[in-house]
Amino acid sequence: MTTLPIKVGVLGFGGLGQAAARILAPKSEMVMVAVADKQGYVLNETVLDEDLLISTYHHQGSVGYIESFGILSNKSIEDLVAKANNVDGYFLALPNLPNTFMAEVAKKFIQSGWQGVLVDALKRTSAVEQLLEIQNDLAKAGITYLTGCGATPGLLTAAAAIAAQSYAEIHGVKITFGVGIANWEAYRATIREDIAHLPGYDVEKAKAMSDAEVEAFLDETNGILTLENMEHADDIILELAGICDRDRVSVGGVVDTRNPKKPLSTNVQITGRTFEGKISTHTFTLGDETSMAANVCGPAFGYLKAGVSLHRRGIYGLFSCAEVMPQFVR
Ligand code: NAD
Repeated sequence: MTTLPIKVGVLGFGGLGQAAARILAPKSEMVMVAVADKQGYVLNETVLDEDLLISTYHHQGSVGYIESFGILSNKSIEDLVAKANNVDGYFLALPNLPNTFMAEVAKKFIQSGWQGVLVDALKRTSAVEQLLEIQNDLAKAGITYLTGCGATPGLLTAAAAIAAQSYAEIHGVKITFGVGIANWEAYRATIREDIAHLPGYDVEKAKAMSDAEVEAFLDETNGILTLENMEHADDIILELAGICDRDRVSVGGVVDTRNPKKPLSTNVQITGRTFEGKISTHTFTLGDETSMAANVCGPAFGYLKAGVSLHRRGIYGLFSCAEVMPQFVR
């Protein structure tokens, strides 16, 4: 039996959105048919060419400038969703700036009447809490929404949920990430959102920083951001999945914005007590050669595929990365 490829839209075409296009290009089970950025969008019945999208975005600032089918719009998401009736699911590779943005986008989908799968790579606990408030509306609208489906939360949180199975009681989940990127401009939202976790900063302050101010800030730290005890949704996701209370989950890491080499190996440590009374720690470490983009977009599409199979069975509403197993996309 041959099944049709899943038709995917990517909202946000910065660092992660472009990586998403590259990841999807060789796949046969998923095709990218829609892309939106802040200034425009493209929608096509057939597969979009990632090289054309990326080069147009780099040279002109928006995929909306693509000749013949690009459309410029300052409300690109609403316009795209209103027109696109062939998209099965969207990856929301959007900045969550302000911290309410992703929930607002979800509400736009609910209002539009579109039915399908949404996947985000949200990071903040409070952002997931906003989605919990609208979970019944998502279910009623026929939307299957998977939240926290990047790397952390995402891949590492799901690994923690699996590792927890060895224990009778979970004492702690400690996530430590190392990210290396060649230049911060490739991932502006990620870096601004990370700065927002530093002492003396918050989301509003980081959002208001100009590119020059971010640049000057990074000059002072030699391009390094060291993050501790972050407000990261891995905690609420593991609590909702019944693994442990949120105060047992901690997330921190180091981001080097001037070097693609990871400053440390990303890992999650899950400590607990077995039924025999032994205390032990499982550690899951990501390969140092894997980039942030690979570890975010890969899982996001794995969860999108899982979301499509839930949606086809009539299962709607809000799910997290620790509740659903991602499926491998060929
Ligand atoms: P980016 O700044 O590189 O790109 C953002 C894109 O969104 C741009 O193309 C921009 O034009 C578009 N955009 C902004 N406002 C828009 C709007 N109103 N309508 C349509 N498009 C709009 O962002 P990035 O660094 O790729 O990060 C995206 C998100 O992924 C961030 O929120 C970041 O925190 C998150 N992230 C999650 C993880 C994880 O492991 N969970 C890891 C890294 C990044």
